[in-house]
Amino acid sequence: MAKITKLLIANRGEIALRIHRAAHEMGIKTVAVHSTADADAMHVRLADEAVCIGPPAAADSYLNIPNIISAAEIVHADAIHPGYGFLSENAQFAEIVELHNIIWVGPKPEHIRVMGDKVEAKRTAAKLGLPLVPGSPGPLETIEEAHAVANEIGYPVLIKAASGGGGRGMKVVESEDQLESLMMQAASEARAAFGDDTVYMEKYLGDPRHIEFQVFGDGNGQAIHLGERDCSIQRRHQKVIEEAPSPVISPEQRAQMGERVAKAMADMGYRGAGTIEFLYEDGEFYFIEMNTRLQVEHPVTEMITGLDLVREQIHVAQGDGLTFTQDQVQLQGHAIECRINAEDPETFAPSPGMVKNYVAPGGMHVRVDSGLYTGYRVPPYYDSMIAKLIVYGTNRERCIMRLKRALEEFVVEGMKTTIPLHQRVIRDEAFQSGDYTIKWLERWLEEQRQ
Ligand code: ADP
Repeated sequence: MAKITKLLIANRGEIALRIHRAAHEMGIKTVAVHSTADADAMHVRLADEAVCIGPPAAADSYLNIPNIISAAEIVHADAIHPGYGFLSENAQFAEIVELHNIIWVGPKPEHIRVMGDKVEAKRTAAKLGLPLVPGSPGPLETIEEAHAVANEIGYPVLIKAASGGGGRGMKVVESEDQLESLMMQAASEARAAFGDDTVYMEKYLGDPRHIEFQVFGDGNGQAIHLGERDCSIQRRHQKVIEEAPSPVISPEQRAQMGERVAKAMADMGYRGAGTIEFLYEDGEFYFIEMNTRLQVEHPVTEMITGLDLVREQIHVAQGDGLTFTQDQVQLQGHAIECRINAEDPETFAPSPGMVKNYVAPGGMHVRVDSGLYTGYRVPPYYDSMIAKLIVYGTNRERCIMRLKRALEEFVVEGMKTTIPLHQRVIRDEAFQSGDYTIKWLERWLEEQRQ
């Protein structure tokens, strides 16, 4: 297959910059596409070429397939990287890209499609031998069926949207009398958010951790894993802090589960980067979904493996295969990522605006992925994440000390950010001991308010 010479980045913000950096380090030219609201964005400034693809609303720009394909044709881009979010898990977009003889830096469209439907994803995971959360075998067709499944697995149960994402369209049902109305609510929320009202049911696990495995496949039956990330520090089912390795997974568990997920990906013929997400409770893993793209939190894996995952994605996409074997993957030390949002750290109300002063932390083993600069105006139209701070340490304790130091140095003036929240969370005894679950942060926030 031909080598990529010009890569169009169909995204914005820190991830567009992240992809640009990897591409430039490989001698690949980059093309930024952007909305009118992002004309001054850092990734647009740094890219070799830039094409405006529409007005601020994402539906008219970053999700506008005809405009993105036209931009690629005008500049003669030979590959497209979708980043995360936006069109990254849109199988139809991947197909259209390939139909235009443009290299898609992502998984095979059929795998994006299967894993994008969470009911199909669970069926596929079961076939590949991965352990599931007990639940409905398929979509819930009738309320009678819902009652039958709930009685069998026992309350509380969780109604989830088959097309769900970003924690939306989920309802916890505590008892039988709430089931019908909550199922209707979940279905109508799912229809509004995803245009699909298919829902399914899972046992609602009491106090699990969120543990996910990074996988990589060459598309021809070879696949490896890069260990796990612990993403249990969440608010509203959204990740806030992630770390690798997990403080509670033993090397034996890692090797065992890692081998299982890598084998599943090899059997599937999976291509590129992917993440297999599990809930973890009482020593057991339960598959919840697979993300067929790069994740926001991929840098913590990069820090402990020394690999550049975007570079690997590009290698796989241009047919070079994996540049390393499972035996060559060595996990070393500890890494933690804080997602920093332009939000009020108390109320979480969005706080976009002009960056009056920006000073990023530095020093040994400190990485900041962000498109911010002094004088930049954070537009109000998109996700509120403005920076990721990723820190490495030879062990978890040193990593936390360094994170504390880096957060102290971080200056973002002109808007409210969640930096103070991170500072408080990482000082907490539960965080420091690693003894937390997916419920911990919300309980902690509740206590702080009292
Ligand atoms: P989404 O695709 O919307 O992010 P996921 O299936 O990945 O949805 O779940 C997101 C989060 O919701 C998980 O990390 C976890 O906190 C919570 N969650 C999902 N399924 C369950 C479950 N069966 N029991 C308890 N919590 C769950």
